[in-house]
Amino acid sequence: MDKKIEGFTLLELIVVISILGILTALAVPRLVDFIHKVEESVCATNLTNVERLYSAYLLENNIEHEDSIFNQFLIACFNEICPVNGVFSYEYGEIKCSVHEDISGGNEEEAPDNEVPWL
Ligand SMILES: [Zn+2]
Repeated sequence: MDKKIEGFTLLELIVVISILGILTALAVPRLVDFIHKVEESVCATNLTNVERLYSAYLLENNIEHEDSIFNQFLIACFNEICPVNGVFSYEYGEIKCSVHEDISGGNEEEAPDNEVPWL
């Protein structure tokens, strides 16, 4: 009696592996882009909070901004503000991240693509 061996043929395996490769090639860049957007969002939110707290600190202690005071404030109060360890600077009332320079710690919100911006 002739018993047929069951299993996948080489062609079937090649097709499946090709489909998985294509899906991976499409998904990985989107995932990396998503991770960058999340890091940027976390940094912007943290910068907004630090900006408010630092302004309150300056007002509460009735002192003017100096870079040394700002650096001491950051070291004393915060462990990690930027997820990718950007360096922060205080310029004209705004805190900026060296890595995420294009974001603002202020109230400006950028409208996502394909949506009508808020007025
Ligand atoms: Zn940052």
